[in-house]
Amino acid sequence: MKDLKGKFDTIFFDADDTLWENERFFRAAEDQFIELLADYTGPEGVQDLLWRKQEDNIPLFGYGSKTYMIGMTDAAVELCGGHLPERIYQGVKKIITDLAFHEFEIVDGVEDTLKALQGRYRMIVATKGDLPEQMNKYRTSGLERYFHHCEVMENKDEKNYLELAAKHDLDPEQLLMIGNSVRSDIAPVVNIGGTAIHTPHDVVWVHEMMDMPESDRIIEVKTIKEILDYLL
Ligand SMILES: [Mg+2]
Repeated sequence: MKDLKGKFDTIFFDADDTLWENERFFRAAEDQFIELLADYTGPEGVQDLLWRKQEDNIPLFGYGSKTYMIGMTDAAVELCGGHLPERIYQGVKKIITDLAFHEFEIVDGVEDTLKALQGRYRMIVATKGDLPEQMNKYRTSGLERYFHHCEVMENKDEKNYLELAAKHDLDPEQLLMIGNSVRSDIAPVVNIGGTAIHTPHDVVWVHEMMDMPESDRIIEVKTIKEILDYLL
């Protein structure tokens, strides 16, 4: 077991599907979208089309439910043969509104873990996505009291993590990131010399899928509570 005690002052935590549930609500929205379009097409291929439209729009508009609305609308236009009926457009808008204001659910074990770490580390949320959307989640989560503050990053690649480290007067080697996404929370951090703890989530967004890289600066746990074994 790798011992991280005394090696880090600051811990960065991913938010979506690390601190609170997120992806499952997007999956439910996808199911509703498939149902909405049932008169036009079967479920096959709808998910792929939606993912493709998402990937087209993310570089332009960033992450979050508003971008998802554009992707869904683009997909719906295509599935409806170029003409989008009012009923479908309003249906998409309702799916996205429900998604943006879904019930809030903290991941099991998070609160106890943060409580145990409080006062021993400077803890910062490092999430990516739509700024108002993420800040709203952070503020309504009830977890704000455990954190120094919340960073909403433009993206989570090597460059963004180098900027994050510099902003907090840390060398890249002093970065400790905890999160569920190998692609966003683990690989870029260890690539620049930092350390990462992977807390898996049962639902992973296809956009985030990636094989775990080989590194002795990666720790894999099964639940977030297990990070305490390495940090306390
Ligand atoms: Mg995440």
